[in-house]
Formats: sequence, C-alpha cells, structure tokens
Amino acid sequence: MSAIVAIVGRPNVGKSTFFNRMIQRREAIVDAVSGVTRDRHYGKSDWNGKEFSLIDTGGYVLGSEDIFEKEIDKQVELAIDEADAIIFMVDVETGLTGMDEDVAKLLRRSAKPVFLAVNKVDNAQRNEDAVEFYALGLGDYYSLSSINGSGTGELLDDLVKVL
Ligand code: GDP
Ligand code: MG
Repeated sequence: MSAIVAIVGRPNVGKSTFFNRMIQRREAIVDAVSGVTRDRHYGKSDWNGKEFSLIDTGGYVLGSEDIFEKEIDKQVELAIDEADAIIFMVDVETGLTGMDEDVAKLLRRSAKPVFLAVNKVDNAQRNEDAVEFYALGLGDYYSLSSINGSGTGELLDDLVKVL
C-alpha cells in the first residue's frame, strides 16, 4: 500500500486547489466513520517516482461556527491517525487566524511529520508576509502558490523523503 498524505487546514486556504493540481486520478474509499467520507476526497499522486495517496479534507456542511471548528478538529485527528505525513495549509492573504492556532496545537502533539504550507504566496511581497507563520511553533514553512504552482516542488521534494 502506498503512503498516505493528508491536507488539513481551515476552509478557503486552498487545500482543494493544491489537491486538484496534484492528483492524477480520484479514488473512492469507503470510510467506516459516518459522515467522514463525504468530507474527504482521495487521490493518487506521485513525485520523484514515489507514489502516494493524497487526502483532501473539508467540504464541510456548515451549521454554526462551533460545528465548523469541531469538524476541522475531527479531520485533523483522523489525519494524525491515518496519514504518514500531514500538509498543514494556511493562507498568507488572510494571515494567521485563531483557527490556524487551534489546528497547530493539535499537530504539535502529533508524532507524524507535519509540513507547514503557506499558500497564496503569489508574489515577493507575500513571501515577506509569510514570516508571521513562525508563530505557529511548527518551525520552517514552505511558501507556495497552489494557483500558479510556484514553491510546490520544494515542499514535495521534502515530503516524499519521509514517505
Ligand atoms: P479550501 O477550502 O481550503 O479547499 O480552498 P480552495 O482550494 O477551495 O480555495 C479557496 C479560494 O482560494 C479559491 O477562490 C481559490 O481559487 C483560492 N486560491 C487557492 N490557492 C490560491 C493561491 O495560491 N493564490 C491565490 N491568490 N488564491 C488561491
Ligand atoms: Mg476544499
């Protein structure tokens, strides 16, 4: 079985844009946890000859802000359980949010390798803005743009090394 990589983060940071750029084909996987399958998309990808399954989380059914946060926590906990590596995506356009800090708190407790991806770094100014994400306490991050593809190679080079 190929390694599993999960993409987590709050809504609108660009998880699905990154996922769609990466995958060659979708996989239908039936998950035993009710309500979870609907919120997760699985795809096959490879980089430098290493094949892996990629999970896009999100697409939540929104009720209240509370459910919203709980759904994200649930996805992060599932990712920590089942994935071999986790891409934690944040968004430089919006900047650091409390929801990012909550996710970071869960991930700092996990032994799984976490790759902090600062997305929407479409230009040099945004590259400077990205430094604020050091405050998440996850160490170095990868600046990238899921829309134009810049920076994604550096992340993937390091990611496949741990799979
Ligand atoms: P998700 O909710 O995390 O899955 O986010 P989506 O992939 O649905 O993207 C949310 C919005 O951010 C969409 O309007 C995307 O076009 C936009 N977006 C995604 N990646 C980038 C990026 O690298 N740069 C910019 N400027 N916008 C992006
Ligand atoms: Mg999405």
